[in-house]
Amino acid sequence: MNSYDLITIGAGSGGVAASRRAAGYGARVLIVENDRVGGTCVIRGCVPKKLMMYAAGFRESLREAHAFGWDGLDGRFDLGRWAASKKAEIDRLEDAYRGLIADAGAELRAGHAKLVAPGTVEVDGQAFQAGRILIATGAAPARDAIAGLELAMTSNELLDLRELPASILVIGGGYIAVEFASILAGMGAQVTLAFRDRSPLRGFDPDLRVRLAGALEQRGLRLACGVALQALERVGPGYALLRADGTRVEAAAVLNATGRRPTTAGLGLERVGIETAPNGAIAVDVESRTQATGIWAVGDVTNRRNLTPVAIAEARAFADTEFGGRPTRVDHRTVATAVFTEPSIGTIGLSEPEAIALGPTDVYESEFRPMKSAFAGGAQRTYMKLVVDGRDDRVLGVHMIGPDAPEIVQSLAVALTCGATKRDFDRTLAVHPTAAEEFMLMRAPQRRTAA
Ligand code: NDP
Repeated sequence: MNSYDLITIGAGSGGVAASRRAAGYGARVLIVENDRVGGTCVIRGCVPKKLMMYAAGFRESLREAHAFGWDGLDGRFDLGRWAASKKAEIDRLEDAYRGLIADAGAELRAGHAKLVAPGTVEVDGQAFQAGRILIATGAAPARDAIAGLELAMTSNELLDLRELPASILVIGGGYIAVEFASILAGMGAQVTLAFRDRSPLRGFDPDLRVRLAGALEQRGLRLACGVALQALERVGPGYALLRADGTRVEAAAVLNATGRRPTTAGLGLERVGIETAPNGAIAVDVESRTQATGIWAVGDVTNRRNLTPVAIAEARAFADTEFGGRPTRVDHRTVATAVFTEPSIGTIGLSEPEAIALGPTDVYESEFRPMKSAFAGGAQRTYMKLVVDGRDDRVLGVHMIGPDAPEIVQSLAVALTCGATKRDFDRTLAVHPTAAEEFMLMRAPQRRTAA
């Protein structure tokens, strides 16, 4: 029988979460996937990226270990050996994902899904019907920001490299650009990060942006910033990036990290009356409904907050609402996020300029040398900021750059979600000696901005 309660297109984080939750409510579910199961996050994103980050981090750990008294730790990094282990781990996780789908009682089909009529999906020529259809096809690297980008690797290929290029140019200043620039430098490549703004990570709190730029430069990365980028071209065995001021940046290899685009081509959206934005994104309402009755979309394909936990939350809210009888909406306003650079960033809520634009703001800061790095003679610094509403003392933003920032900010996200005030932070006893305790020990505001 080719009839289901739900057909999900895409077996990534969002698609699998929705399908499992719906199946748990007793729905008959079919998931269609034309690539590996697990999606961007598991196969070619968050997970392998973090495994690569760990690999790169050992350079500094070995240096620190020596300073702490360890001898005989000098070594050479073998990217090929890491790649083999990474492949085995990703294969294991993909199997685990397949297991989760099977255990939930959902059916998985390999192939390309296409909407052919309301309620009907065709998979490689075979028709399937469902009362509800969920599009969770994610996004893929964009290659059209400047001419010649098709010559460059994307994060997909970079994660499969088996040999480290001697020099690499990373184009872009967003999450993917800064994370891979940091990782590649840690592994020993000579890295140039080229972006058009003066600081990386547009939209983040300015104090994090400036400190990240400084820390990357201190680690030996070259920043080619503040100039518009024009074109990439081949030069001999390498590449050259042409910039608007006539300068050129050359390297042996290039990573294009200029953003991602929703994956909607070939889905047949026009057949069911779903229009897309110029970048391909599917417009949805607060309950992830598309313009077409009976069709929903979640995750990066909708280009809301393009983060795995957000896709999962949207997916579960859809399943709870449509199959569980529990209407649920995702609050996209307070989303914690991390950038896995060295030093790492954790951030949630309003930046200082965003808060000031809304009213009176108090800003508390702390900056210090982390104990471990200071002992080892390192130049690292940790910076923390609390952005507080000057009228009612509510903490509106928490920002940190330094070791363990993602872990610390994740925990503080609970406090922000609960609407904690600065007084609540003050009456929280510290755990000593930790870096996180500094968030509880900020006495007087550094700056007060009146409305
Ligand atoms: P981002 O949108 O974060 O960054 C894109 C970068 O490309 C920006 O620096 C942008 O510059 C630059 N760019 C775009 N067009 C041009 C142009 N014409 N000329 C010059 N520069 C240009 O995209 P990413 O690909 O880095 O990441 C995609 C998404 O994936 C992120 O938004 C994030 O949501 C998610 N992600 C999350 C991670 C995490 O949680 N740790 C890790 C990796 C990805 P400008 O700012 O000047 O426009």
